[in-house]
Amino acid sequence: MEALLCSGNPHTPVVSHFTVLRGSHFDYERCLTLTRVNKEGLLTNMATTSEQRAQRLGRVLRPSAKVLPEHARAHNRALVLQQLFHFGPISRASIARATGLTRVTVSDLVAVLISEGLVEELGTQTAGRVGKPATLLGMRTSAFHIVTVDLTAGDIMRGGIVTLTGDVVDYREQPVDGQTGQDMTELVTKFCRLLVSASKQPVIGIGIGSPGVVDAAGTVVNAPNRGWYNVPLAEILTSTLGIPTHVANDADTAALGELTFGGADPDGLLIVTVGEGVGAGLLVDGSLVRGVNHAAGEIGHVQVVEDGATCACGRIGCLETVLSAPALHEALVNRSTEDAAAHLAYVGKLLGTLLSPVISALNIGEVLLSGPADVLDGPLRESVVETVNQRTMPAISSGLSISMATLGQDVVLRGAAVLVLSGQLGVS
Ligand SMILES: [Zn+2]
Repeated sequence: MEALLCSGNPHTPVVSHFTVLRGSHFDYERCLTLTRVNKEGLLTNMATTSEQRAQRLGRVLRPSAKVLPEHARAHNRALVLQQLFHFGPISRASIARATGLTRVTVSDLVAVLISEGLVEELGTQTAGRVGKPATLLGMRTSAFHIVTVDLTAGDIMRGGIVTLTGDVVDYREQPVDGQTGQDMTELVTKFCRLLVSASKQPVIGIGIGSPGVVDAAGTVVNAPNRGWYNVPLAEILTSTLGIPTHVANDADTAALGELTFGGADPDGLLIVTVGEGVGAGLLVDGSLVRGVNHAAGEIGHVQVVEDGATCACGRIGCLETVLSAPALHEALVNRSTEDAAAHLAYVGKLLGTLLSPVISALNIGEVLLSGPADVLDGPLRESVVETVNQRTMPAISSGLSISMATLGQDVVLRGAAVLVLSGQLGVS
């Protein structure tokens, strides 16, 4: 289907038509139909700059679903964009070789993409070639923007204006002031409108990383800290602002950010996000793990302290009651440096104990901690490493890396850009 995209900015009104794959909502299944790129075949045909760029933009998700005939053109378009995004500048012939599409199909799709302003010709490639020089193509990655919002923290919303290659070119914060439910929805809408109007380029979509359980259509099924229960946030924002909006769990969003812009390994990544609550995102064997009820990675409400504090969910001693950012900061008030380190090591041991069977069951190779570095990066992280090493067999723990998220504070903002890239352009 076709969707009219508008910038929402009075200075840069409606700009173009983009094909939206299977509806305007973010669709992981569609995202996963993207064919894995034949990197080796391509690399031999690319300039050095393209190789560097491919490394910078990380890896792609593995295909796991069939492509239906009615989606073929959109699928092919996504294949071409995927090549340009990860390996551009690149020639039409190289795209055809890597995707298996005919040169005629590639040329037709490229012509449309050029007319939309998404792709441009960058001159010819002559070095090391025999015969007619090939025209190189590239995506106009800074000609469009994506608006992204991170709702992980309890007291503030973080907002970004992000390029198609994940660079945050403008950053804003909005105090939450204790708002929940409908008031919070209105605050998020207002913040998104502000960010869209601040963008100096046309906005192709809005991406939001929200705490809680979020389904594939961008409905927040359950986010107690926000007072959201079955709130169709993506639908509300799409219809209110007139811009395609994609919403996903914040930890899943962080995992996609680390995959696309942080070079994380998609075969076994676990990212733990610590903010107002605690969550985890998982990439296993090239796919984002979602679970039966879209709640995979919801480790925050696993009981880790038998006689612990009452949690926001009503239960006792959940991981969130000791590991959330407010819980950690509160627990350190009036403690000596030594005491503070001991407490952080204690919480790290609880987290390591909880993660060990998960790491073992899925043979995770990389664990990333995302959240306030002042409390996470130090005795807490070191204690997680020690605990996991003690509790798992060498076949699991050897080579296991447990570190802070490489994208730092921007991980959800940049990951939310991936929601839009995959939802609107088929690029991940
Ligand atoms: Zn709980």
